Amino acid sequence: MNQVLTLWDNDTKNIFNEAFLRKRATAVALPIKGTDAEAIKTLIDSFLGREDALGLAAPQIGIGKQIIAFRSGGLDDPEQAPLKDNFDVLINPRITARGGKKILAWEGCLSCPEIQAEVERDEEIKVSAINRQGKAVSKKYRGLLARILQHEIDHLEGLLILDRSVQIEIPKRKKLLSLFANMNSEK
Ligand SMILES: [Zn+2]
Repeated sequence: MNQVLTLWDNDTKNIFNEAFLRKRATAVALPIKGTDAEAIKTLIDSFLGREDALGLAAPQIGIGKQIIAFRSGGLDDPEQAPLKDNFDVLINPRITARGGKKILAWEGCLSCPEIQAEVERDEEIKVSAINRQGKAVSKKYRGLLARILQHEIDHLEGLLILDRSVQIEIPKRKKLLSLFANMNSEK
């Protein structure tokens, strides 16, 4: 189980974490073997260790590979649906179609602690990927699940909610606010 890389801890910016989180992840070679199989296992262990997570992308735990894990069931009532029985893993995921409305909603991210960002996402997407068994899969997702997948696939491109946010809610703690002022001015 790996620790989740965060952009900051309390009031300290993690510049090395940020550099890693902003890198594009590389595709997993097929057939899946060796270190990639190990990476998939580590991502699953790390994801299942965080009951608060709706999704986790490999770069968030320091693995620069295109692998995501996410809650695939029990989204309406997570307390009645243990994460270990309600998750899925996708390898090399690609969004192949987008549909429905554009929907604005607030998102959090384990790598951006304490803040919430309002982000616009497509209501429906179709995703092609490789599953854990190494088989090609293609599936449609909608609503919250489509949002979770768009968020996690963004991580594989080095994109964070900060980059897509319409607005950000930052707790009114003086130091965290000033840290944010610095981040924005660097862009
Ligand atoms: Zn995230």
